[in-house]
Amino acid sequence: MKDSPRVKHAVEIATKAHEGQFRKTGEPYIIHPLAVKKILEEWGMDEDTIIAGILHDTVEDTSLTLNDIKKEFGESVAFLVDGVTKLSTARNGMRDIDTYLPETRDNFLRLMIALGDDIRVLIIKLADRLHNLRTLSALPPEKQKKIAKESLEVFAPLADRLNMGLLRVEMADLSFKYVDPKRYDELKDLIDKYNKSAARSLKRIEEEITEALKKEKIHFELSGRVKSIYSLHKKLAKHNQNINEIYDLIALRVIVDDITDCYLTLGVIHSLYTPMGGRIKDYIAMPKQNGYQSLHTTVITKDKRIVEFQIRTHEMHEYAERGLAASFYYNEQKLTENYKKGKIEHLPTNLLWITELQMTAAKLREGKKVDLKKLKLNLFADKIFVYTPKGDIIDLPKGSLPLDFAYRLHSEIGDHVVGVKINGKMSNLNKKLEQGDIVEILTSKNQTPKSSWLDKIITPHARQKLLRAINIRERNNAEKKIPPIKKK
Ligand code: MN
Repeated sequence: MKDSPRVKHAVEIATKAHEGQFRKTGEPYIIHPLAVKKILEEWGMDEDTIIAGILHDTVEDTSLTLNDIKKEFGESVAFLVDGVTKLSTARNGMRDIDTYLPETRDNFLRLMIALGDDIRVLIIKLADRLHNLRTLSALPPEKQKKIAKESLEVFAPLADRLNMGLLRVEMADLSFKYVDPKRYDELKDLIDKYNKSAARSLKRIEEEITEALKKEKIHFELSGRVKSIYSLHKKLAKHNQNINEIYDLIALRVIVDDITDCYLTLGVIHSLYTPMGGRIKDYIAMPKQNGYQSLHTTVITKDKRIVEFQIRTHEMHEYAERGLAASFYYNEQKLTENYKKGKIEHLPTNLLWITELQMTAAKLREGKKVDLKKLKLNLFADKIFVYTPKGDIIDLPKGSLPLDFAYRLHSEIGDHVVGVKINGKMSNLNKKLEQGDIVEILTSKNQTPKSSWLDKIITPHARQKLLRAINIRERNNAEKKIPPIKKK
């Protein structure tokens, strides 16, 4: 890729600013921002983000100021560099990830503000972290472990929340190698051996599938996928270290042209091999919370191998691997414009947590109080899917209560709740909703929103709507109390 004049200029300025600085590897420091630039280019990010990536360490580590950057490259780039700088100050304040996660409020707060400003800040941070992980061997062991642990617990999950699958896998495995080197080697051996032993039958499966799909005139690409060592580690822990219970050690990916072909392919696979009960997952009709879409099925092959198939379209594949970065690639113009206006409404609905983050950041900047426990719950917990009596699917964070559900449907419904039926039975507003519940909200037009409901809500969305309703009601009441002006 040829650099634009602006990008070239940024490289010159960064090179000059970092002159005389060296990395722990002994290389000139500029190697690092240039590597970040390359990663951001690979992710298909927009020019401002790439320039901010080149300059991301200048304000903190060199004599260059934010003002200089603003003058040379404009508001947007300066804004991004500032965000990344703030984010790293927040990080430096964290003594250790263990003390940071439960109670160290200030740092978490600053982290959230920085992220909420513009999600591209997080993407630059992720690129920065990825390169640091790739070159982690140059640091002393203590530091290696600390950075690796933080990456594993904070940054890899964030990559997952953005559905950046390739990044998540690389980050998790690079980090895990430092966090638990012995286990990493063991599992790597295990996977290698398994793959070797399965190679022959895998080849046969590929031939069988190819033939069957060709017969149906379905265009497809077939590939194996590499299981991340870290995710195997986590799965083994969940299954008492019993490798026989891990069904996706061998997985094949079939990428086809459209959604109809996805379902046709699923049919073809099931006519060839016996599907395992309860292992068919339709993430096309019901995408994962981060927007991931695919059909998954686990089958038993003719030679009694257990193989997982993942079937998806090219677009779904692109999104599964590159996530939010892929959306930028497709909608670059639109997104960038909206960011400039402070809006991100064009984000896919499954990334609405970013909007929530933005709302929270705005509140924090105005000095308003934010319940971080609830925010954290909302950010990091998994989602559940519940249903309306009509069968509409509503996704909510785990731990959501009936009022969260009601306000998600409509503020008119939320404001007038008098009761709730869960799965056809009367229940109460303190009852946590469970995956798959059918939730019916009972309303009355005489009901008014109560401030005591604030304790029965966990989503910022519902909280905001309730607070607004309470404010309006109080204002109306106050107006009513003013005695009417008497005519003389
Ligand atoms: Mn850096």
